[in-house]
Amino acid sequence: MSIQLVCSSSRVSTAARRSSAVASVALSLCWFASAVSARQVNVVIQPPVDSKARAFIEVIGDPVRIWLFPNSYAGISDLGKRIEKLEAFDTAGAEISVHKIAPGQFEATRLAARFRYEVNLDPPAQPSDAAHVSWLEWARGLLMLADLLPTSRSEQGKAVNDEQKEKKTAESTIVRFTLPDSWAVHSNEGHNAAGDAAVSARNGLQKEVTFVVPDVDRAVFALGKSLHISQFSPPGMTLRLVTDGEWAFPDSDALKMAIDVLKAHHDVFAAMPSKQGTLIIIPFPHPVAANKWSAETRGSTVTLLIGRLPSKVAALAQLSVPLTHEFLHFWVPNGLALAGDYDWFYEGFTVYQAARISVRLDVLTFQEFLNAISRAYDGYSLGLDRDRWSLLEASKRRWTTGESSVYSKSMLVAFLYDLNLRSLSRNKHSLDDVYRNLFREYRNEDARAGFQPAQERDGSEAALQALGFYSGMQNFGRSFVSNAFSISLPELLAPFGLRAETFGLRTRISVSESLTRQQRDLLHDLGYNDYVRSPNHRKAS
Ligand SMILES: [Zn+2]
Repeated sequence: MSIQLVCSSSRVSTAARRSSAVASVALSLCWFASAVSARQVNVVIQPPVDSKARAFIEVIGDPVRIWLFPNSYAGISDLGKRIEKLEAFDTAGAEISVHKIAPGQFEATRLAARFRYEVNLDPPAQPSDAAHVSWLEWARGLLMLADLLPTSRSEQGKAVNDEQKEKKTAESTIVRFTLPDSWAVHSNEGHNAAGDAAVSARNGLQKEVTFVVPDVDRAVFALGKSLHISQFSPPGMTLRLVTDGEWAFPDSDALKMAIDVLKAHHDVFAAMPSKQGTLIIIPFPHPVAANKWSAETRGSTVTLLIGRLPSKVAALAQLSVPLTHEFLHFWVPNGLALAGDYDWFYEGFTVYQAARISVRLDVLTFQEFLNAISRAYDGYSLGLDRDRWSLLEASKRRWTTGESSVYSKSMLVAFLYDLNLRSLSRNKHSLDDVYRNLFREYRNEDARAGFQPAQERDGSEAALQALGFYSGMQNFGRSFVSNAFSISLPELLAPFGLRAETFGLRTRISVSESLTRQQRDLLHDLGYNDYVRSPNHRKAS
């Protein structure tokens, strides 16, 4: 099995989005500003049956004069162009003149108490982008409030300050969807006490579904005509599976795999990251090759778009790759009170750790695990600027030139770290311990309540400190993360009984013919089983 990642940042932009507002339904003439005190955003969904896919959004709340909608996310640009027909009104209901500064940027002549607009929800042209931004098609859609609502601005157009950001944790937004009566909408976001969203019939053709959203940046909603829901509660967390479409595997198999992955991560971290998680599995909005997938983790929601492999075994194997990776993001970075561009750790190390978990779950063989490392090395070797920047610097360039470093090179560094720590500690410690220590120290308790933390430490600093905690590993971070360096895998792997050979453009890593006892013990701990080669060898205890 190959490991390919189209994962995007699970870390939602820290730009505060305080649409402190009360909204009414855009299409209707409801107007209840004075009657409602909570923040409220109402969204009317218009699937593209005989017109374009659209959402009509209306927001009422704090006085606002300048609106800036996010224009890019996860390397996807021109999002602002989707925002159309913004209209603003004062407290008396009189319309205020609005000037469009640029796509997704609007300015009113005076403060507005209410505004409404339309969002063009045609699916993105690039299929892999559909896991990262809102879209809607005739049978289903995905809505992410972060790209549907304007970034909050003060009256002067200045970004909200830290003090206001802290206040955000005390506020929730009530989001009311109006959608066709035959559709359903599901989310990890706040529900009523019974765990369900409030649903009310509207006019026989439409219904309203209301959610309480603690943090709009983390909110993902799956909508569709034929969503099916199942859930399971391993100790400490309830996982809800929301699927749509026909797959080669039954929902129960996907849920079982998801639970196995969650438990394997839990064994590492010794705690669940949140009380509830949601896994959304839906088809791409456009036809794609059957082996394609694209995923994103936002808060404690994993959104996974996959192609349709006809074989159940192959389809489940395909599912396991993004699940091991994305579920780890529930803990890192989404469960940590850490900030900044520490993508080298929360992506690259995640790629490595997810492969380790796959070996533990018997989803990957040890050789397939080594093959994944080989491919990362080949990917790194082909990178144009592979050694120009440190991993710290490459992380700041992730969406331009740093992607290969953030994923491939960082995965190699994680492997080297794990090998060295295991070797130095005689297999007493491993990267697992680093994860557990980091989570214990920087766990974001607010994440359990669905909030982003009010205060965050720099993620790179914290991760480097955690990596340097163990004896003999103090300089590892400086050598491999803080400074630019070149990786020559054959020399770096040789001390651990591993051989890296490159034939043409492809590298193969294999276990050396003769191993010392210590090398054998270390590789056994990583999943190596030499039974086939040496049937008489007694496995080290
Ligand atoms: Zn990722």
